[in-house]
Amino acid sequence: MTLRAPIPYLGAVRICSKETVLNTEINGNMLIGASSTPGSSGPFRAINPATGLALDPVFGGGAVADVERACMLAEQAFDIYREASLEQRAEFLEQIAQNILDLGPALIERAMLESGLPQARLEGERGRTVGQLRLFAKVVRDGRWLNATLDSALPERSPPRPDLRLRKIGLGPVAVFGASNFPLAFSVAGGDTASALAAGCPVVLKAHGAHPGTSELVGKAVQAAVASCGLPEGVFSMLNGDGRTIGQALVAHPAIKAVGFTGSRQGGVALMKTAAQRPEPIPVYAEMSSINPMFMLPDAMAQRASNIASGFVDSLTLGSGQFCTNPGLVFAVDGDALNKFCDTAAVALRAKAGSTMLTPGIHSAFNSGVERLSKAEHVSLLARGQAGANACSGQAALFVTDAATFLSNPALEEEIFGASSLIVKCKDVDQFKQIAEHLEGQLTATMFLTENDRDAAQALLPVLERKAGRILINGYPTGVEVSHAMVHGGPFPATSDSRSTSVGATAIDRFLRPVSYQDLPAYLLPAALQNNNPLGLWRVRDSELVQS
Ligand code: NAP
Repeated sequence: MTLRAPIPYLGAVRICSKETVLNTEINGNMLIGASSTPGSSGPFRAINPATGLALDPVFGGGAVADVERACMLAEQAFDIYREASLEQRAEFLEQIAQNILDLGPALIERAMLESGLPQARLEGERGRTVGQLRLFAKVVRDGRWLNATLDSALPERSPPRPDLRLRKIGLGPVAVFGASNFPLAFSVAGGDTASALAAGCPVVLKAHGAHPGTSELVGKAVQAAVASCGLPEGVFSMLNGDGRTIGQALVAHPAIKAVGFTGSRQGGVALMKTAAQRPEPIPVYAEMSSINPMFMLPDAMAQRASNIASGFVDSLTLGSGQFCTNPGLVFAVDGDALNKFCDTAAVALRAKAGSTMLTPGIHSAFNSGVERLSKAEHVSLLARGQAGANACSGQAALFVTDAATFLSNPALEEEIFGASSLIVKCKDVDQFKQIAEHLEGQLTATMFLTENDRDAAQALLPVLERKAGRILINGYPTGVEVSHAMVHGGPFPATSDSRSTSVGATAIDRFLRPVSYQDLPAYLLPAALQNNNPLGLWRVRDSELVQS
């Protein structure tokens, strides 16, 4: 790793500038700034969900004093880190990506043990994690996120207009909660961390207890990058421990200015409440619960019901259904085409092997959800997948009901995290609109259609736009591209703030706020807003987009 020129020393903040060797040993400690800190509360171990056995080593959970120390370091680091050059920040993100790759097979092996996910999936997820970090490096260099805008002074106008210049700055230290279902891509150095760091915000991460060894390895990769890039140690800390103590204390800490979360509706709502009740309320970007409705329009079903059904079952059972974009609801008009769809889906589902779920808790929540649906009135079981080889295997489930039952029972709209889906038989295509209006907010909504379904699709689209963050045509919602035009968000309860996305380049916007500078002398202006445009940014200057 190369050494960067250290950025200026500021007061009591320690600048890390020593070459750091990447350490792949897992010792069960937390990472607070540049230190490896043993936890003082609730010793715990990771559980291998495939065997039910505890894994070494023992991890220590944090105490409120650890939250205090991590937040203090983050607060001290903020003013230096947010003014690090765009190039330095981008290189930092790229260094994290490289360090994650340099962890090699040790990372994948540990993640397999802790999550039950197969090697190929985790290698793919590592690629996505690294890709996200590199995408944000590109975004940072590009500088469009700064929104640099200059309105020249108009002294002759009556009243005179002052010189006004706007740029965006980071909100401040961000608390990020690692997610259980993406131990790499939505965890320690996942999308929330990458976008917060890109925005110039230090991150204090609450690691997920399901994969603490994976978290420690990735945390060390970030910590090493902080050091080798000459950044203040408080740019990144990682805490272990119970959400209800450590997580709550973190969100309540005055140094924290925003929260990134992926997990349960209950957990996300609890954090929203804590954040709103602080003396200084802060935004929470929680991605929580979505069942991703799919509307099968009549001509598409008449043409290729079986084909759509096979793809649907593949999407439903992918990764044991443990995706926030899992297709949990299917709406189609009752009749021959739907019968064909159901027959094909049932056969395909029965052939699907059970696979290990992420944690015993998630497995048991899945089983309870399936049992709840099995007992619901006027809901019948269409098919189950195969039971798996171990006690934590998820056995896929497919149910059928009718539209009247669906509309009268709100429990049928609750997320069952795992491979469970409900097919709803509708009386005609007009009922789709009524059902779409009835739905809660979603990450995705899908229509399968042909050109002959045009009228129905045009009628449904405006409703789906109001309900979902991403609308798909003739595709399955699992698989979220990390790119500039992606939206992984949506109205509550899909997320806590429908104005944002947690995946893709614009995820950075969640952690930024605009500042306007009025009549600043040149020596006080940030580089992004100086007359000679030293960063070569595209800026809006007197209403025109220019680079000069
Ligand atoms: P979770 O229970 O919401 O936990 C996620 C993180 O939030 C953990 O670090 C947890 O700490 C913390 N947390 C939970 N409740 C909290 C509270 N009241 N205050 C402060 N922190 C809190 O999610 P999970 O463990 O990943 O899985 C449980 C269920 O969540 C699943 O069965 C599924 O229903 C849902 N889930 C949904 C998605 C999705 O993408 N839609 C993804 C993952 C999970 P602790 O570990 O101490 O609890």
